[in-house]
Amino acid sequence: MEPVTKTKIIATLGPASNTVETIERLLAAGVDVVRLNFSHGDEQTHEAMLQAVRSAAGPKRTIAVMGDLCGPKIRTGRIEPEPQMLEPGQEVTIVPDLEIGSAARFGTNYPHFADEVKAGDRIFIDDGRLALQVIAEIEGAVHCRVDVGGALRSRKGINLPDSRLSTPSITDRDWAWVDWAVGHELDYLALSFVRSADDVLTLKQHLAERNAPLKVVSKIETPQAISDLENIVKASDAVLVARGDLGVEMSLEEVPLLQKRITHLCRRQGKPVIVATQMLQSMIDVPEPTRAEVSDVSNAVIDLADAVMLSGETAVGRYPAQAVRMMDRITRTAEQFLEHAEYAKPVHAFTDAPLAVRAALIRAVGQVAEDAGARCVAVWTTSGITAQLLSKARIDVPILTISDTPRICRQMNLYYGVLPCHHPQPADLPDLIRLVDQILLEKEWARAGDRVLLLAGAPLTDSTTVDTLTVHTVAATEV
Ligand code: PEP
Repeated sequence: MEPVTKTKIIATLGPASNTVETIERLLAAGVDVVRLNFSHGDEQTHEAMLQAVRSAAGPKRTIAVMGDLCGPKIRTGRIEPEPQMLEPGQEVTIVPDLEIGSAARFGTNYPHFADEVKAGDRIFIDDGRLALQVIAEIEGAVHCRVDVGGALRSRKGINLPDSRLSTPSITDRDWAWVDWAVGHELDYLALSFVRSADDVLTLKQHLAERNAPLKVVSKIETPQAISDLENIVKASDAVLVARGDLGVEMSLEEVPLLQKRITHLCRRQGKPVIVATQMLQSMIDVPEPTRAEVSDVSNAVIDLADAVMLSGETAVGRYPAQAVRMMDRITRTAEQFLEHAEYAKPVHAFTDAPLAVRAALIRAVGQVAEDAGARCVAVWTTSGITAQLLSKARIDVPILTISDTPRICRQMNLYYGVLPCHHPQPADLPDLIRLVDQILLEKEWARAGDRVLLLAGAPLTDSTTVDTLTVHTVAATEV
């Protein structure tokens, strides 16, 4: 029996992956979650991609959709013709509302730019490929010196790590996308440039007022977010290490250490964590990644990331399905290493009463599974929380989670080791056991005679009553 891949793979969709056929290939290669990046494309583009995802997934596959809000991302204006080359030492002026820019003067989409930068502030463009420094602001025009030159293009990101910006974390444009995501029943919303836990809570309150069960993923990419990290993780449903902007806003050499700090904190707080950006970057252009990239993905799994994300590799790259297959190969191999490695199992820090009992049982599951030689652990879930905690406990066997709510199933597809299945609710525990047997045999995740564990309580619908761990032998039964 093939071992199932436990680390989840997120693929960003774009021009290289917007057809049903390509998306089918990505899903077959191992994608669990697709990301619609609202920084690029209009509603029509995303509507079409979403429909393509839903057709490719069909009624049988559980695929989560994550919308990514662009947040207060400042960008260069139109550059024509592009690119324009900026040379080190030359001067360039940024005039916010300039329509068409050149190597001497260009615009930005941020109207308060000139009011909020000051002499000496650093300006990074295009993920830090170009670096400028502000010399002076004169009548709404910001005069800069080029420190690191290169190609200047339209709509590239601008990072201002030294400037205090007044722009809200969730812009008007983001709110329009939030409503679109609610209307289109997306599963996750990623919030870019989060600065504090309040940003997350503001979005969650907006969703709660609309009765929208989307989960919020905080993208950690600013020094302000690092300062409020514990509270942000606590407020979020999941966290994404956005290494692209993090490497510009902080310094590059800090990124690996911040990745470890963030993954560790998420482990303590039982929150799924995604490692993102440039994971297999060279596969945008060539069919094989570098050894360093392979090592990066493998180390993210060993750091206990729940999911790894592809951006340009699947959105605009020449080898989208190969990139996913490569990701799957690397994560599987790293998981097998983890299963045999001597390392400390993650510890939850749950002190509140309802979760404390469940967390204690979940800790026991790993040991019982190992001692009993169980093939998997199965749970019935209404909220997904037991699956989330089991996932974070990094038990060595897959976690079959059955729920009667399609969206909960899709959301659980982000959790490490979780195999979600949608099914109407069984009447009681014996009924659940028969259902588990049927699913395991059908999907070939176990054979008759294999041992599996069941974590449940009565009634099944009340997750606070989860108090019973059963060792069961799979029988060839019909439901
Ligand atoms: C990042 O900065 O690493 C990131 C994931 O964000 P985006 O792709 O939106 O720039």
